[in-house]
Amino acid sequence: MEVNIPNSSLPRVVIVGSGFGGIQLAKSLKGKAFEVVLIDKNNYHTFLPLLYQVATAGLEPDAIAEPVREIFNGQPHFHFRMAEVLQIDPQQNELNTTIGTLQYDYLVLACGSQANFYRNDELTRHALPMKTVRNALALRSRLLENSERALELSDKQQQLEQLNIIIAGGGPTGVELAGAIAELRDVVLTKDYPELPIKHMKIHLVEGNNRLLKSMGEDSSRKARQFLNQMGVTVHLNALVQSYDGTVITLSNGDMHAARTLFWTAGVEGVIIPGLSPASIGKGSRYVVNAFNQVAGYENVFAIGDNALQVFPDYPLGLPGLAPPSIQQGQWLAKNLVSLHQKQPLQPFRYADKGVMAVIGRNRAVVELPFWHTQGFIAWLLWMGVHLLLLVGFRNKASTVLNWVVNYFSYSRASRLITRFQNTPVESVTSVSGASVPL
Ligand SMILES: Cc1cc2nc3c(=O)[nH]c(=O)nc-3n(C[C@H](O)[C@H](O)[C@H](O)COP(=O)(O)OP(=O)(O)OC[C@H]3O[C@@H](n4cnc5c(N)ncnc54)[C@H](O)[C@@H]3O)c2cc1C
Repeated sequence: MEVNIPNSSLPRVVIVGSGFGGIQLAKSLKGKAFEVVLIDKNNYHTFLPLLYQVATAGLEPDAIAEPVREIFNGQPHFHFRMAEVLQIDPQQNELNTTIGTLQYDYLVLACGSQANFYRNDELTRHALPMKTVRNALALRSRLLENSERALELSDKQQQLEQLNIIIAGGGPTGVELAGAIAELRDVVLTKDYPELPIKHMKIHLVEGNNRLLKSMGEDSSRKARQFLNQMGVTVHLNALVQSYDGTVITLSNGDMHAARTLFWTAGVEGVIIPGLSPASIGKGSRYVVNAFNQVAGYENVFAIGDNALQVFPDYPLGLPGLAPPSIQQGQWLAKNLVSLHQKQPLQPFRYADKGVMAVIGRNRAVVELPFWHTQGFIAWLLWMGVHLLLLVGFRNKASTVLNWVVNYFSYSRASRLITRFQNTPVESVTSVSGASVPL
């Protein structure tokens, strides 16, 4: 069965993924002589940089997600279909999706990345990733449900085992999540659960490198660590997660800690859809692309964003997995698709580095712009401004600002509903493992 798309004489560009890259490309193709079909398994675009605020009860998901149809209302020759792409047939220029087959003239893979558990079954089973709205809601429920469960226990040690959190991965996502959980603990959980020893709840941040925020400069790493220490987060450097059975984590340096919750921000890999030649897939499960974002071995198949491995002399391991490269590649590819169709020469993509930033709770952030580094309150204001600017949709911007203002002045978090029960068992670590483990 074919996906039902109205007939058109225009060449068809099929874009898989309504993330930063896919949305930008589809917007940039407006008014060009193409029929654009955008496919995503969700009917919304997620602003991933604010996902951690959903996970820590600061924002509701609809403040950071925008329905795709809202973004493209009225765009001519544009069709959105909510479906998962299962297989690519490059010989037939055809996709197999959950709602049927779909022909393309040009295919753009913008499927982003997913959590990488490095084929470790234990981690796959017990660690919670943070890559989607569903993941963030699961994290939020787990954080809050931990406290509800701890109330069922009478032993203080067992309560702390239930409350403690381990975060694997000291990149921007792990650092931001750790700061936000520390704030949630200090401003909300202490008030909500006066019967629990919340102020002794431990937050461990585990990083394999010798510093946090490895993608940023050493001054930012140092400052981020200092901010986290001030907020009561225990940072473990040069340590990898060796094993985790759902109750006790063992690190590569031999340390063991008892915690029923492990949040995983320690690695990602590209989302690969079966069908293209294995030679087109490179390091980190990303499609190897040339300077025009053409996937190796294919003239009419492209990859952009986290999905693409595009190497430059300044970026020998490929461009960073950030929103700006995805957006810029989307913009650039629109021009190249026009050129390709008109049999004009293509222009090689050039990445403009806009800088990086990470926020660490209230009033604290680290910002590195190409011409200036700053940390603390000014950085925090900058971080807020940039994120508001980039959020898609006026309604999202307004709702986010309102929530931020209320949260800031009320020292509260409104979105504290437990909507996805995680069913964490409440037996103590000592009774499960037979050994007493430091908290
Ligand atoms: C928690 C978190 C925080 C981040 N913070 C920042 C930040 O502060 N600054 C920054 O610059 N970057 C940040 N990033 C990275 C940034 O969000 C990504 O680099 C960016 O989203 C990549 O864009 P993309 O278009 O390649 O893919 P994505 O935005 O990931 O979108 C991929 C889309 O493809 C869809 N999809 C996947 N497979 C299929 C399929 N088979 N069929 C149909 N649809 C499919 C998905 O549903 C998704 O909508 C963060 C990422 C995360 C996870």
